[in-house]
Amino acid sequence: MTNPPPSPLYCANHPTIETSLRCNRCEKPICPKCAVLTPTGYRCKECVRGQQKIFETAQWWDHPIALVVAAVLSGVGSYVATFLGFFTLLIAPVVGMIIAEAVRYCVRRRRSHALFLFAIAGIVLGALPMLFMILINPLISLVSGNAAQAGIGLLPVLWQVLFVIITSTSAYYRLSGIQIR
Ligand SMILES: [Zn+2]
Ligand SMILES: [Zn+2]
Repeated sequence: MTNPPPSPLYCANHPTIETSLRCNRCEKPICPKCAVLTPTGYRCKECVRGQQKIFETAQWWDHPIALVVAAVLSGVGSYVATFLGFFTLLIAPVVGMIIAEAVRYCVRRRRSHALFLFAIAGIVLGALPMLFMILINPLISLVSGNAAQAGIGLLPVLWQVLFVIITSTSAYYRLSGIQIR
């Protein structure tokens, strides 16, 4: 028994171009123009694209989940921070890490590029109510002409602003660092 002579292959994207190359994943014939050299050999563009999609596993509902989880934890954190004053600076990076881990857990470690942006937005939104509450006192002092009192009242506001900045930076690095892996 002899093998039949191999019939010529034609590129799946260019039916007029004869080729001997096949995608090493889906076996589709591809011409040199359509082939992408990957560390594991030549592949078609579709397979390369499909491979990249693996890193975007988040479902649409993961984004609101990330936002809400981050907002709730950030709200709690900003409330605690009102008692901490200067120590807010020491606690905030830890809070950011906790928020990042909580978000990862709640979305079952699925990931997407947008996911950590939603988490950061959640941190900012969650800290806003507390920020406005402690802004009221210095604002009232300012309106009633007591500038010194207003200055003292602004210090907790500063801690709150720093809390938001440090917490979101810490969460950002924790979440985006995982994305690189
Ligand atoms: Zn392929
Ligand atoms: Zn082609």
